[in-house]
Amino acid sequence: MSNFKEEEIRFLKGVGPKFEKRLNNLGINNLKDLFYYFPRTYQDRSDFKEIRFIRPNEMVSIEAEVLDKDLIKRGKYKSVFKVTFTDGTDTLIGTWFNQSYLNDVFESGQKYNLYGELSKKSFFKYNKKEMINPTYEEIGNKNTIIHTGRVVPIYSLTEGLTQKRLRYIIYRALKDHLHKITDFLPEYIIDKYNHIELEKAIFNMHFPQNRQIFVKARNRLAFQELFLLQIVMLKRKKEYKKVNGIKHHSFNEKMDDFLDRLHFNLTNAQKKAWQQIKSDMEKKEPMQRLLQGDVGSGKTVIAVMSLIKTIENGYQGILMAPTEILAEQHYIKINKILKGFDYNIDILVGGVKGTEREDIIKRIKNSQADLIIGTHALFQNDIEYYNIGLIVIDEQHRFGVEQRYQLKQKGDNPDLLVMTATPIPRSLALTVYGDLDLSIIDEMPPGRKPVITTWRTEKSRSKIYNFVKEKIKKGEQVYVVCPLIEPSEELEANSVLEIKEILEKNYLSEFNVIALHGQLSSNEKNKIMSDFVNHKIDVLISTTIIEVGVDVDTANIMVIENAERFGLAQLHQLRGRIGRGQKQAYCIMIADPNTEEAKKRLEVMTETNDGFRISEADLEIRGPGEFFGTRQHGITDLKVADILKDRKILAKANQEANQLTEIYNWSQKYKKLAKKVEELTIII
Ligand code: ADP
Ligand code: MG
Repeated sequence: MSNFKEEEIRFLKGVGPKFEKRLNNLGINNLKDLFYYFPRTYQDRSDFKEIRFIRPNEMVSIEAEVLDKDLIKRGKYKSVFKVTFTDGTDTLIGTWFNQSYLNDVFESGQKYNLYGELSKKSFFKYNKKEMINPTYEEIGNKNTIIHTGRVVPIYSLTEGLTQKRLRYIIYRALKDHLHKITDFLPEYIIDKYNHIELEKAIFNMHFPQNRQIFVKARNRLAFQELFLLQIVMLKRKKEYKKVNGIKHHSFNEKMDDFLDRLHFNLTNAQKKAWQQIKSDMEKKEPMQRLLQGDVGSGKTVIAVMSLIKTIENGYQGILMAPTEILAEQHYIKINKILKGFDYNIDILVGGVKGTEREDIIKRIKNSQADLIIGTHALFQNDIEYYNIGLIVIDEQHRFGVEQRYQLKQKGDNPDLLVMTATPIPRSLALTVYGDLDLSIIDEMPPGRKPVITTWRTEKSRSKIYNFVKEKIKKGEQVYVVCPLIEPSEELEANSVLEIKEILEKNYLSEFNVIALHGQLSSNEKNKIMSDFVNHKIDVLISTTIIEVGVDVDTANIMVIENAERFGLAQLHQLRGRIGRGQKQAYCIMIADPNTEEAKKRLEVMTETNDGFRISEADLEIRGPGEFFGTRQHGITDLKVADILKDRKILAKANQEANQLTEIYNWSQKYKKLAKKVEELTIII
């Protein structure tokens, strides 16, 4: 491939400087880009019909001969050009507007393929068969038929570039240059999976010969894409492990001490995850581990254990949360759990300012602070850590990959533990988080009852709040979640402030109803949360700021207003706030959805509490691009593979990538592959 990388696409047939720019607009800058610019979809134009049988409302191909032509000029630029065709069964008129040059293209007696649709007006009003602007292609030499009479590629376009032009450019480029491409997959893999050659695969992605070959082409390209991606991830993972990290010693007594003070026993899944983390931390290589577990599965305890371990080893531990509320929550809770441990615990969030902030920064720098809990504020430039041993990032799905590394820069290759409640299926996790080792907590603490979830409409409001009232009288606490803070003119959704008024005036006037939202100051928010925890508040109305991590186990009822406005993952996270104790919890979604997708989301919520199933449903409803957010590890850059539909290929690609990268000196043995991986590493 390299020998013609410099070859400029401007010199390709059909391009030139003008079209080069337009190709650039599509992200096509060289031949390789062009080869890999795969069709958005295909159109089957291979079914021919006789003219006598065609009717309006169907796209058809015909093969016909030019009988006659007629160019009518209308002023300087305007013209109508009509060609009469026949196929022996009937005649048909092809009409083109303002393309007078076509008069020089069509000659009587020539044979053409046409692809188009009959004009309804001509057919029904004038009893004539006419196609306006049909696709045409002369059939002199059968080999060059590319626009008609076959399965035809349809590309995404840009201004000034037509399907026909781009199709021609790509076709010519493939014919003239594709043979120069080198197949970089190791031969043993090609043999093992009986993959077709790269050249053939690429050609057939654009111009499929038949269905069978097309499927093989697609499978091979999907495989290679996922295979390469996985190698990049694994390579990256190996590279971190090469550096010298922190070798933690075990402090088993401390840990036993901690476990003794807990009012529960760890689940087997928690124990297993802890063993993996412990063993990682005791190695010289830096830990890079993802701890995955559904909401409420008990990740926090494990995080705390690993933080104890680093502190006992004389290092600073860091716990980063995505929101201030969550950071505060962790701070309060962890202070409680670690009461007898004599650690200095600090909290640093955006709201902390002035001398208070300076004091904390000082404590961090001179090693007075053992455990620092916070938000992004933890890695502002002016904060210097004394010696970080472990960074725990909670709720990873809110952090970008880059941020992860930015934070790591703050220490000397500290251990890293990333926690996520997004329960993506394992095969996907391996790809998306391929650069991390994976621990899964796939077991809930015992005695949890699934939250009873119902979906009601606006009409049931008074019934719902009567139910809520009865529950509060029995000593329960309630969350009410709204999509908005203030009433909005544009959006028809309930706001925190409106609902507060309604509940205070009508349904729940005898109780203490408080609103919590992002516009309050940190102090106000903290006060509300601690009042709620201490049961001074019966009903907490809030926006989704309570979505992640908030843990108040006496609150067991949740009403979600305008639930149709929330995403599935978000609903699941919200619901995860309740049902943490022994009591039966209820989640009531009030929603009047007007899309099928929204309906599906609500149905899934009522059907299951299982995060994995919800996650899969979410992935199906939204598709991987949106599911993973933008720029997650190249997943969204996939051109051919569909990580949902290509699960099997994904599993194989992962397996092969794992095996290959275990081979000593694989990059020497498979130079072409190594080069390809190198190119990709820069992009992803
Ligand atoms: P998450 O995984 O969502 O972060 P948490 O760590 O906040 O979950 O735990 C949820 C709740 O379950 C907490 O109140 C915690 O004290 C409790 N918990 C954690 N592990 C266990 C266990 N093994 N047995 C009983 N309760 C547990
Ligand atoms: Mg949590």
